[in-house]
Amino acid sequence: MATNDRTADAELMREIINRLRASSDVLVTSHKRPDGDAIGSGLALVRWLNGAGVSARFFLEDGVPANYRFIRAGREVLTEAPRDLSDTTLVVLDTTEVSRVVKDTGILAGPREVINIDHHPDNRMFGDVNLVDPSASAAALLVQEIVETDGFELDLETASLLFVGLVADTGGFRHSNVDARTMAAASRLVAAGADPHGLARNVFAEQPLSQVRLLGMMLSSMELHLDGRLALSVITEAMRTEAGTCSESMEGLPGYGRLVEGVKVSALIREIPNGARVSLRSNGGADVREIAARLGGGGHHAAAGVVLDVAVPEARRLILDAVSDYFEARD
Ligand code: 5GP
Ligand code: MN
Repeated sequence: MATNDRTADAELMREIINRLRASSDVLVTSHKRPDGDAIGSGLALVRWLNGAGVSARFFLEDGVPANYRFIRAGREVLTEAPRDLSDTTLVVLDTTEVSRVVKDTGILAGPREVINIDHHPDNRMFGDVNLVDPSASAAALLVQEIVETDGFELDLETASLLFVGLVADTGGFRHSNVDARTMAAASRLVAAGADPHGLARNVFAEQPLSQVRLLGMMLSSMELHLDGRLALSVITEAMRTEAGTCSESMEGLPGYGRLVEGVKVSALIREIPNGARVSLRSNGGADVREIAARLGGGGHHAAAGVVLDVAVPEARRLILDAVSDYFEARD
């Protein structure tokens, strides 16, 4: 089980530092469809390791999506894993289980050791060392605390990478996972040179017009259900074609239902090949991880998701039922 024991976590951080510094080769990785936390925390960890003279690379099966190309260091990300990991320490960031890193988990077979650093409450503890702290608002926060524990002096580049992780996973410091620890860490990053305004714009704004048009269409699709407690929106392939976007980016889109007064759960259903991807958000009141888990998915208290191998109308029905059951169990 994940603990919230900060003393135990401080010891784990020291153990992780010792193991990584003693490694001859490190491969850092994170989940498919990487977000700002995955990318920022991974690249920051690699920078710290390289600075410490440890050979380290970052592998992301899906590469860096278009909306994160503003991060120049992202160009060095590997999209194919090295074949032989027998002398390699594998660090998995921001990921509940290895099947969320790669389709074919055989690719990552046989590393010398596995270090698991995450903040999802449903992490499967698959590592030789597991630093899993669900109270951390981002994996980037844990990476920051690790490198700071090692006495690393944050440079502009590393601070900016870590800030991207923090700002992305907190929705611009507005989600229910924001606390004093998050704000204090952000303050240290800004003191080291990270530009809060510019980086927040890079993550949440600066989008192609087609993506903003898609947002408009998604908002038009929004419906309220269950006495106004559920806001349900849909993005179909046809909508994406009409908006003219081929971007996979959904950063920020699932949360818009929370703008509506009285809404407890915001759901976005995205049509994908052979199924539907569902993103759930709450404003802290409802536990959307539990709702996603009912359908085979997972995530955090206020942000969760699941992929369903059914068409959009059926996905819609499944979500309505799952959210309805969740509320009924509490009414
Ligand atoms: P998003 O809606 O942005 O795709 O995901 C929000 C959160 O839910 C993320 O923390 C992610 O880890 C989790 N999540 C999304 N999809 C799935 C899924 O299919 N399975 C599990 N276990 N978690 C998911
Ligand atoms: Mn994260």
